[in-house]
Amino acid sequence: DSSEDVLKLKLNNGNEMPAIALGTHLGFDEHGMVHSSNKELRDIILRAIELGYRHFDTASVYETEGEIGEAICMKIKEGEIEREDVFVTTKLWNTNHNREQVPTALRDTLEKMGLNYVDLYLMHWPIGLNEDYTHSDVDYMETWRGLEDAQRLGLTKGIGVSNFNSTQLKRVVEEGSIKPAVLQIENHPQITQQELVDYAHEQDIVVMGYSPLGSLVKRYGVQLPGPKINDPILTGIARKYGKTTPQVVLRWLVDRNIVPIVKTIKVHRLKENMDIFDFRLKEDEIAAISNFDEHKRYTCPSFWQNHPNYPFEKVDDPIPDPFLTKK
Ligand code: NDP
Repeated sequence: DSSEDVLKLKLNNGNEMPAIALGTHLGFDEHGMVHSSNKELRDIILRAIELGYRHFDTASVYETEGEIGEAICMKIKEGEIEREDVFVTTKLWNTNHNREQVPTALRDTLEKMGLNYVDLYLMHWPIGLNEDYTHSDVDYMETWRGLEDAQRLGLTKGIGVSNFNSTQLKRVVEEGSIKPAVLQIENHPQITQQELVDYAHEQDIVVMGYSPLGSLVKRYGVQLPGPKINDPILTGIARKYGKTTPQVVLRWLVDRNIVPIVKTIKVHRLKENMDIFDFRLKEDEIAAISNFDEHKRYTCPSFWQNHPNYPFEKVDDPIPDPFLTKK
């Protein structure tokens, strides 16, 4: 069973997290609509469990919670795993930021998943929105107290934040009653965010890195500039270990103590992406990959940049809000 080979990281709440997660955001179509989840995804999750994946990353807004829950419940019923063997991460959406909405939103999620707890509940963004997607001025500390309530109620084993900048994360550390167990941020060769990662690690907060493959792969059909799958620096390292360049980049995150969240709906890639626990990169190889850093984000919701809690740098030409145009 390859799940036994996967490293585990200790969280500051006493629980353990498998060191790689399967991402389940299926992307947006040309209208900005999230691709609906379906039976195909459920079958991929079943295969992933068979191949040793024990950590799944989803979010209320991805509309994939149902399929993940269904696959996990099927495998539990078949006696192949027990609930404690899998780690489920999901996220609170921005329109549920009032304190009393948080446990309710998580109960809805649990009902969709057919589970009675998740392992990690993250605040997806520090940005609160009203039902109609206009900006809400609810403070993310109020939302954090809602996450604390959810943990105390036993709806989740742990809580954390996603897409928080260092000022925002520090505030939660200083003002919260429960310390975040996890920070989830974008992380790939073109955006290492090393200072933020170091701060989190000093605080004993585990970092999860999303979009780990960066420019190596096409995103929603578009090839963005940056190191490609056949980049000579990456292929040089890959050849030495008998690995592929995606495996090398995923290992680069693991060796920096970051949990990669990698998404694929192709079975051969499920295997490939998991097969990274039998080698380790040298310091100079880690540095060579980190050298691609240009602080370049792919997830950059500039349509929210006038929100007081927008976490990222502002741009001159913000993109239209897909959540408003889809209504
Ligand atoms: P990834 O870096 O995981 O890239 C995914 C793309 O790479 C997919 O299109 C996949 O295509 C392809 N791919 C996967 N493995 C390989 C491989 N070995 N070789 C070649 N191509 C490959 O980025 P994502 O942006 O999808 O991020 C991963 C996950 O992170 C999301 O699913 C989500 O769970 C999380 N996330 C969280 C965010 C947040 O705000 N907190 C924001 C963005 C993502 P195919 O499926 O066809 O194999």
